[in-house]
Amino acid sequence: MLRDGVEAKPPQRLFIPGPTDVLPAVMAAQVAPMIGHRSDAFESLFAKVQGQLRALFETDQRVYVVAASGSALHEASIRNAVGGRVINFVNGAFSLRWHEATVGCDKEAIRVDVAWNRAVTAPIVAEALAAALADGPVDAVTVVHNETSTGVISPIDEIAATVRRLSPETLVLVDAVSSFGGTRIPFDAWGLDVVLTSSQKALALPPGLAFCAVSDRVLARAAQLKGRGWYFDFLNLEKALQKSTTPSTPAISLMWALSAQLDRIFAETPAARYARHAYLADLTQRWALGHGFELAAEEGYRSPTVTNVANNLGIQVGALNKHLARLDMEISNGYGVFKDKAFRIAHMGEATEADMVRLFAAMDDYLAGATG
Ligand SMILES: *Cc1c(COP(=O)(O)O)cnc(C)c1O
Repeated sequence: MLRDGVEAKPPQRLFIPGPTDVLPAVMAAQVAPMIGHRSDAFESLFAKVQGQLRALFETDQRVYVVAASGSALHEASIRNAVGGRVINFVNGAFSLRWHEATVGCDKEAIRVDVAWNRAVTAPIVAEALAAALADGPVDAVTVVHNETSTGVISPIDEIAATVRRLSPETLVLVDAVSSFGGTRIPFDAWGLDVVLTSSQKALALPPGLAFCAVSDRVLARAAQLKGRGWYFDFLNLEKALQKSTTPSTPAISLMWALSAQLDRIFAETPAARYARHAYLADLTQRWALGHGFELAAEEGYRSPTVTNVANNLGIQVGALNKHLARLDMEISNGYGVFKDKAFRIAHMGEATEADMVRLFAAMDDYLAGATG
C-alpha cells in the first residue's frame, strides 16, 4: 500500500479467539524495571490493579491474580469449591476441558451434555440439578459463559438464579475466559461464586496471567476441604491479598502491562467497550449472512466476542487464511469436529470497526476470486 510515496504496511491483526493483539503502549509497559514483590512499590501496584479489577468484575468481594493461563483456574476452583459432587455442563471444547479437570481432581463429576451449537439454559440446569439433588447434595455447577469453540454465549444470570432457587448451597462456577472484558458480568449482582478468566482474550493482554473473582461462600467452603494444594489454594491467595501481595513470585512484567491496560479500559469505559464488542459482533454476523453463510450458533445466544460462521458454501478455510496471511491477518478454522465445516472470526479485545472493514474487504476479494 503506497501512501505519500512511502510504503505503509497496515499492522498485524489477529482475528483469532486468543491471543489477541496487544496495544503497543501496553506491550511497552512490560519493560519497566523489576521490583521486589514484598516491596511498597509492588504493594501499591497490586492494590491499584485490585481496585480496578473489582470494579471491572463489579464485586466488593475479591479478585485473585495468578501467573498461569486460565485453564489453571478450572482446576483451582474445583479444588477449592468441591468436596462431594459437581455438575459439569458440557456444550463445547472448553466446558469439556473443565469436566476433564474435575475428573483429574478425583471429584465425583456429573457430566451433562448439551449440543455443541446450543446454549446451557436455565431449564437445562434446573432439570439436571433437580435430578442430581434427588441423590444428595451438589457442591457446585460449572458452566462456560462463552464457548469459544462454538461461538455460543449462555445466560449466566438466569442459570445462577435457578441454582440459588433450587439449591442455595450449590456454588456457581463460571469460565468467562473469552467473554470477560468484552461483555458485562456483574459478579455480585448475579450472585456468582467464581468467575475465572485469562489475560490474552477480550482483556487484550499478553498471555500468562489469570484472574478469578471469588465469593465469600467459596472461601467458607474451601476452609472445610482437604486437597486444595498450595499454589492455587484460595485461602493462601486470600492471606497474601490481605497484605496486597501474592503468595509466590508474581509475573511482575505482566502486572505492569495489566496496570496500563486497565487504565485504558477505564478510559474507554467498560460500557463503551461492551457496546463496541456487541457492535462488531453484529457487523460480523451481517457480513456472514450477507454472503449466504449461516451462523453456527443457536439464534439468541450468539457470542459478542467470536462469531462461528457455518461453512455451508464449502469454501477452503485453509486457502482463505493463506490469502489473509499475506495481508498479516488471520482468522480461525472451526474447532475440532467443526474443522473446515465452520470458521471463526474473533472480534474481541482492541478490535475496531476499521479492523473489521479491512478483514471483510480481504475476505470479499478472496471469495470473488474463489467463486470466479
Ligand atoms: C481460551 C479458553 C480457555 C483456556 O484458556 P487458557 O488461558 O488458554 O488456559 C478456557 N475457556 C475458554 C472459554 C477459552 O476461550
